[in-house]
Amino acid sequence: MSKGNMSKIAIIGGGITGVTLAMLLQDHAKVTLLEKSRGLGGRMAHRRAEPFAFDHGAAYLTIRDNDFADRLAPYQASGLLRPWPLNPVIFSAHDQPVKRDQRRDSYALAGSANALVKALAAEHCKKVDFHFETTVKALLSETDSSWNITTDHGHSMHADWIISTVPAPQTAVLMPDEVSFAEDLGRAKMQACFTMMLGFDHIIPMDWDAGWGTSDDPIGFVADNRQKPDRGLNQTALTVHAGNAWSDQHFDQDLDKVQQQMKRRLLELTGIDAAKASHLALHRWRYANAILPAGQAFLLDQEKGLAAAGDWCLGGRIENGYLSASALARKITDLI
Ligand SMILES: Cc1cc2nc3c(=O)[nH]c(=O)nc-3n(C[C@H](O)[C@H](O)[C@H](O)COP(=O)(O)OP(=O)(O)OC[C@H]3O[C@@H](n4cnc5c(N)ncnc54)[C@H](O)[C@@H]3O)c2cc1C
Repeated sequence: MSKGNMSKIAIIGGGITGVTLAMLLQDHAKVTLLEKSRGLGGRMAHRRAEPFAFDHGAAYLTIRDNDFADRLAPYQASGLLRPWPLNPVIFSAHDQPVKRDQRRDSYALAGSANALVKALAAEHCKKVDFHFETTVKALLSETDSSWNITTDHGHSMHADWIISTVPAPQTAVLMPDEVSFAEDLGRAKMQACFTMMLGFDHIIPMDWDAGWGTSDDPIGFVADNRQKPDRGLNQTALTVHAGNAWSDQHFDQDLDKVQQQMKRRLLELTGIDAAKASHLALHRWRYANAILPAGQAFLLDQEKGLAAAGDWCLGGRIENGYLSASALARKITDLI
């Protein structure tokens, strides 16, 4: 359904998917972006705990698609994106970590994991109306072609199109039952992740900067934030992700027990003793990674003016969030 030239589009979520949509749609409609947290980035998350700082969501991004590569080329040239990890390993249950080949398509953000989304917003979203600390609670149909969005502040706003970029299970809660893509949405399955942040008063000598365990293990991935570009860290600051399958299985377990199992396994696999950390925090991601994507670049109910996009449409990676958003933006631009 065509919605006219001055369509109002509301985008829910300020991660890579939401900001890409905002950037690509701002010249074609009045775009508002609603984000529940204080800033942009979503699961490309960064947390300061002086004197430490951690990327506690995505650790790095991969660039495989030509369109994504073209979009990011200026940031590679400026040094915002730098090849990382440089010394990756695979953890072994019985031996020292084993060196793994350095991938050519893998990059970390200089400064912080949310720097890319912030840069895209600052440079390419000048016409977008951003609302932070605004959680969308409900979408109510007003007329055939218009929606009312209720937020946690008790405020409401109108939109012709609503695009959800929040994880699939949360999108399913927001969308009305009769939305045409309910079944496809239900197909996408996401997994959890426990993330432990460890800060030490000294530098731990390490000949690796990133290491992989397995999905069904208390240790799935470890990154040394000090060895990422422009972090200014004089002490070791580790981000330790439990495996996704293991996190799912232990999601409701007592957090102290989860922590103990992760610490014990970290010591076994790396020799790093988390008991010696001067800073320890645990974060629990309910929806971290898409194990089973929806299998379509985006979901759209054209008649109702409702859509959904995100990494979970194509497979849980940052690049897939971008690709999902750009495919949906092209489609909506054709329709409005
Ligand atoms: C622990 C972890 C490790 C990962 N590692 C990697 C990696 O190494 N490489 C990689 O490519 N990918 C990785 N990923 C996946 C990557 O982070 C995601 O693919 C990508 O960030 C998804 O972006 P998005 O914009 O689709 O969703 P999100 O980043 O989740 O953005 C959704 C946004 O919506 C907001 N929101 C939610 N509900 C509401 C609401 N009701 N109202 C308003 N706002 C709302 C959220 O606050 C969030 O900012 C990892 C993810 C996690 C959690």
